[in-house]
Amino acid sequence: FAKERGKNTYQFFLPEMNGRALNRLTLETSLRHALEREEFEVYYQPQFDLASKRLFGVEALLRWHRPDVGIVNPTEFIPVAEESGQIVSIGEWVLRQACAQAQAWQALVPGLTVSVNISSRQFHDSQLVDRILEILRQTGLAPELLTLELTEGVLMESSGTASTTLERLEAAGVKLSIDDFGTGYSSMGYLKRFPISTLKIDQGFMREVPADRDNVAIVMAIIAMCQSLKLYVIAEGVENMAQLEFLRKAGPVGVQGFYLSRPLTADATAALLQITHEERITLLALADGGT
Ligand code: C2E
Ligand code: MG
Ligand code: MG
Ligand code: MG
Repeated sequence: FAKERGKNTYQFFLPEMNGRALNRLTLETSLRHALEREEFEVYYQPQFDLASKRLFGVEALLRWHRPDVGIVNPTEFIPVAEESGQIVSIGEWVLRQACAQAQAWQALVPGLTVSVNISSRQFHDSQLVDRILEILRQTGLAPELLTLELTEGVLMESSGTASTTLERLEAAGVKLSIDDFGTGYSSMGYLKRFPISTLKIDQGFMREVPADRDNVAIVMAIIAMCQSLKLYVIAEGVENMAQLEFLRKAGPVGVQGFYLSRPLTADATAALLQITHEERITLLALADGGT
């Protein structure tokens, strides 16, 4: 019956709307039921410290198994969920999954951290901190093992309430990182103002490294700045050995990228966490000089 009605809606709107708006409408409608129908799944992309070669954390990345469509990536539906406000409940679900999973994985890799992306709407939700604290209590995950990834834009639009949010999170021990660093605003005052522990260099700056001289200069400058400011820095989008070798020489960094591992299902992540550190180095081409 729902399908029938969906079709009628479709016909009704068709003459009025262009393809884009129609796509958007059907996306928003099916997104509304996705959570209750358990169509979401959290994938995890491993993060490595390049110097020690340790797998120290995972980033939670949302996937949607959309009926009749297949796996949909977040760039397609997060903006829609953000605009409709659905991101708040979806985001809470992601946080709970990620924290529970990271807590379960402590037995395999003690101290493993989990990073969760927080969009603007979520960040400005007045209940965010209370929800996070409740999830940490329920799952038993130590607050220090949870990192929230925020973009520069979210911090720049920060009002008084946002600073209070950041202060409360810091007081609780939750870590903050800046995602897609370098793509937002050039004002870097927020690096001083807010309790940030990690910068993630936007993957656009890793493109064509080391051949692209400008990108090389930018990446080296960000790494040097992070060393001075005592911030940890993670390079995203590492897709080949040349990029990895460049980073090894550039300074102390964390790395994340397809060359080391794509985002994995929870089961595949657990399998990777179960093997020994030495086995992982060989398996993931982390050995010096690559393999
Ligand atoms: P992000 O947080 O910057 O995540 C990194 C994105 O780069 C991920 O895309 C990841 O799969 C992809 N990636 C990782 N390594 C490589 C690589 O070597 N090469 C290339 N080309 N890409 C790589 P994904 O999973 O499609 O997520 C896209 C964006 O959607 C994320 O960007 C994040 O902003 C957002 N997102 C993902 N999950 C969530 C979520 O649970 N909540 C919210 N609010 N946003 C999310
Ligand atoms: Mg991220
Ligand atoms: Mg990013
Ligand atoms: Mg991004």
